[in-house]
Amino acid sequence: MLQLGALYVVATPIGNMLDMSPRAIDVLTRADLILAERPTYSKKLLSHFQIPIKQMKPYQDQNEAGMSDFVLQQLLQGKQVALISDAGTPLISDPGYQLVRKALQANVLVHSVAGPCALSAAWSVGAIGGGRFLFLGFVSHRSCTRRAELKRADDTHYAFAFYESPHRLIDSLHDLRAVVGSSRVVSLVKELTKQHEHIFHGQLDDVIDQLGIDQVKGEWVVLVSASAEVEKPYPQALAHELAALVGRSAASKLVSQHFGVPKNQVYAELKQEFK
Ligand code: SAM
Repeated sequence: MLQLGALYVVATPIGNMLDMSPRAIDVLTRADLILAERPTYSKKLLSHFQIPIKQMKPYQDQNEAGMSDFVLQQLLQGKQVALISDAGTPLISDPGYQLVRKALQANVLVHSVAGPCALSAAWSVGAIGGGRFLFLGFVSHRSCTRRAELKRADDTHYAFAFYESPHRLIDSLHDLRAVVGSSRVVSLVKELTKQHEHIFHGQLDDVIDQLGIDQVKGEWVVLVSASAEVEKPYPQALAHELAALVGRSAASKLVSQHFGVPKNQVYAELKQEFK
């Protein structure tokens, strides 16, 4: 009988080894093939848990296209394959997307071996509130693009989170301040589950002041609270419906007459919304 292959997407610790789950150890021990971002790096983790390696291959952004085709063949031949990243949950700002998608499209079983993830860990201790948030992954290295990305996120009026390297943290915080202002409440979450774990929580300017040069070393997640939605002096939904019926210009005139708002303002806002 043909044995069914399966792909296991396995989360590994983001610092503290005690966060390795018994199920992750079990799945990795039984896997015919382990895919790792950096095999040399991951071998230390596997050796720490005395996990024997049957076969291990690198799986990185650079070789993802070719490697995912190779691995799909292995899965179709009945192999049990485990995907890990350097740390945390694969596919969360880590490679794996092409392989998982190809596996799903080929009706191969895909299982989550859930566990540590810097994003969920940061959100759970950052106390930003509001329930919903956007995740931006890593923001751009270029300041002007980064500002545009932060602005787009902030314009949604949701809280948002991003990963940042220690080398760019201060520059990114200055760009963040230029976009959201100095009094926005943020949490900068550093070195989760590790010895130097720390949460800087408060208004952006105060938090920037607290960060000495030495403090910047380590891995970071930046959480930004939602901006307050500025209430418009007229019902937006009504203006949109009117614009759809009678056009932007006539709608702006009607709204202006009824709600005493300058016609130009309504027109500009309708134009902006439909960009
Ligand atoms: N997939 C991983 C996960 O689920 O946590 C994230 C991979 S991403 C390439 C690495 C980034 O995650 C780091 O640059 C940092 O921003 C964040 N990160 C990873 N480990 C962290 C930790 N222990 N504390 C804070 N942030 C961490």
